Amino acid sequence: MKSQSIAILGAGLLGRLLALELAKLGHQITVFERQAPQVKESAAYVAASMLAPLAESVATEANIVEMGYYSLNRWASIIETLQKEVYFQRQGSLLVWHHQDQSTAKHFSSQLQKMGLKLSHLPKPQYLNQQQLSALEPHLSKQFLEGIYLPEEGQIDNRELLDALLFETEELGVVYHWQTFIDLKTFAIDDYDEVIDCRGLGSKPDYAELRGVRGEVLRVYAPEVNLSRPTRLIHPKYPLYIAPKRDHVYVIGATEVESEDDSPISVRSTLELLSAAYTVHSGFAEARIIEANAQCRPSFKNNLPKIWRSHPHILHINGLYRHGFLIAPAIVDTVLEMLTNNSQSLAQQFEIPLLEMSHENIC
Ligand SMILES: Cc1cc2nc3c(=O)[nH]c(=O)nc-3n(C[C@H](O)[C@H](O)[C@H](O)COP(=O)(O)OP(=O)(O)OC[C@H]3O[C@@H](n4cnc5c(N)ncnc54)[C@H](O)[C@@H]3O)c2cc1C
Repeated sequence: MKSQSIAILGAGLLGRLLALELAKLGHQITVFERQAPQVKESAAYVAASMLAPLAESVATEANIVEMGYYSLNRWASIIETLQKEVYFQRQGSLLVWHHQDQSTAKHFSSQLQKMGLKLSHLPKPQYLNQQQLSALEPHLSKQFLEGIYLPEEGQIDNRELLDALLFETEELGVVYHWQTFIDLKTFAIDDYDEVIDCRGLGSKPDYAELRGVRGEVLRVYAPEVNLSRPTRLIHPKYPLYIAPKRDHVYVIGATEVESEDDSPISVRSTLELLSAAYTVHSGFAEARIIEANAQCRPSFKNNLPKIWRSHPHILHINGLYRHGFLIAPAIVDTVLEMLTNNSQSLAQQFEIPLLEMSHENIC
């Protein structure tokens, strides 16, 4: 494919990763973003950025789990080539539950088994007794009698990643226009060979079927807590995950509310998240709350991603829901394969619907 002039709309997670991979192939990339470079009001900035495909089994389909495992390996190779350091860890993730919540844990475990049967090539969950749990996370073995370990799962630092992608892409000659709101109806499409819409929930004015799913998270500094891997509490009412970042910073989240309200976190959610976290590790009592955030996840009705064209030169990628970090490399590789080889083999492998241009897709 000869070098093309490509506009990317949105410098969130997808926009930056796509800019990197396309610039590496020698294309001239221009990115338009409505916010300043930190994109503080994007899903990418607020996310916990866990990379836990099997742990998501209860909330998703096999193709997302498949893309998640593919992406774990791809993240490793992408991050290795970045000049700025990005915290990326794949020491597995852990599921724990209080003794009284065994029936919820049984349900979770049967979902894991079903997924394991569908995707038998993936690493198997390991059921842990108290001693084995203690060997993995010594500070959890007092509160929990058992757990499930999901090998190879991990997490990434979303903000370090956004920053490193920006640095790298600028080095490769990508041009950014910050604080530039794009309305597709007036955008100069003809100035580019290809326009790729990565505006997440910002695309909603053009696609009414897109919806936001509110998520609330807390960032705490907890020097008394020593968790070395993402840990999920299975609970009938207050499920939560705790994602350890560098230097005793933990992201605790996340609520999931059918609402596009992105106003600050509610008192109820704060109380529920922190109380649940405290039952996982009492060291959270003395933690300091450094941030409390709410953002909406860009989602379609089935909570699965879509790639489609609304015009011969406009490609849209959207609907990454709560799985953006989990699956972004798989989605980006699928798009690259379509654009450079006109091939759909990854799209078929990952069962990503590639919607043809149709009347209702045209903006
Ligand atoms: C609370 C929370 C927790 C999450 N946790 C995880 C997790 O643990 N693991 C995981 O895999 N995923 C997680 N996610 C999901 C993940 O963050 C999203 O799936 C991902 O960020 C979507 O990427 P995107 O590039 O499509 O959208 P975004 O990252 O939101 O980027 C879209 C960008 O487009 C810009 N934009 C919008 N409209 C316009 C416009 N008109 N003109 C110009 N620019 C525009 C925005 O400012 C933004 O910068 C979480 C999300 C939330 C909210």
